[in-house]
Amino acid sequence: MKTSTTVLTALLMLGAASLATAQAPQPLSKPEVEKAPIPPPDVKIETTPLAPGIYLLTGRGGNIALTVGVDGAAIIDDQFDDMAPKIRAAVAMLSPTPVKFVINTHLHGDHTGGNDQFGKAGAVIIAQENVRKRLGSTSFNTANNQPIPPRAREALPVVTFADAATLHFNDDDLEFKHLPNAHTETDIFIRFRKANIVHMGDMFTGGFPFIDGSNGGTLDGLIKAHEVVLAIIDDQTKVIRGHGPLGNKAELQAYHDMLVVIRDRIARLVKSGRSQEEVVAARPTKEFEAQYGGTNFNAAQWIGRAYVDQKSALEKKKRR
Ligand SMILES: [Zn+2]
Repeated sequence: MKTSTTVLTALLMLGAASLATAQAPQPLSKPEVEKAPIPPPDVKIETTPLAPGIYLLTGRGGNIALTVGVDGAAIIDDQFDDMAPKIRAAVAMLSPTPVKFVINTHLHGDHTGGNDQFGKAGAVIIAQENVRKRLGSTSFNTANNQPIPPRAREALPVVTFADAATLHFNDDDLEFKHLPNAHTETDIFIRFRKANIVHMGDMFTGGFPFIDGSNGGTLDGLIKAHEVVLAIIDDQTKVIRGHGPLGNKAELQAYHDMLVVIRDRIARLVKSGRSQEEVVAARPTKEFEAQYGGTNFNAAQWIGRAYVDQKSALEKKKRR
């Protein structure tokens, strides 16, 4: 899921404009203008224990995993920038020392928005190398045709890896594994080897997945990613979704199977030469919409994206 930087910028500008026309005797300094317009939404961080020293933190944005213990505190994902003080406060309830490591599951702003503040405070940010590449350069928001500027220096991961890495921390081994071209091209899943907990980032959510094609995501890659994880975990594994309630292997399996059914239907329709409109009209998602569609499900958009994805997968296959 993505933040709308443009909307935020527009709101900031609107706020600044209304402040400028108010009868203020002194012009506001820049930091005051930036602070003034939008009060942060009043969302609390809820802390749920998962295992000794390991917690699930939910608030606004992606789900956070927290580990605290002899080595200090580390978090997986850090939601939005304005949530950072609340995350810090929630960590302080459990750890005498501040966050030492931040691990990003992928690049999206609802999972990396706190990087600036945690990075500035001295936390070491760890991520797959494509997160640093993407966040460190100007990208393009295809939804509104607007450029997205690079993130601040402090927000960029300082430890990166291509395929896999392990963090030996708080008497557990946190294993990071890159799963290419899934939700994005920057996704990793994180496994607490001893505690038997995994964090899936946005490769597993409560609803139909967002395939971020502009950041290298593909439906086929996402299905493959699930297969890699399903082969490693067991029925006792606690599976943290990027968004939504804590899950388990059976739920991840069902999610994977649902995507395979939809993908195969769409692939068949694409192969038989159906147009995007025809594929959308065939409603290949039908029996899954009640469970995974949510209130904002836009069939044309989701199936349309899956159609484009499967069409380009078929063309790639033909070229081989
Ligand atoms: Zn995401």
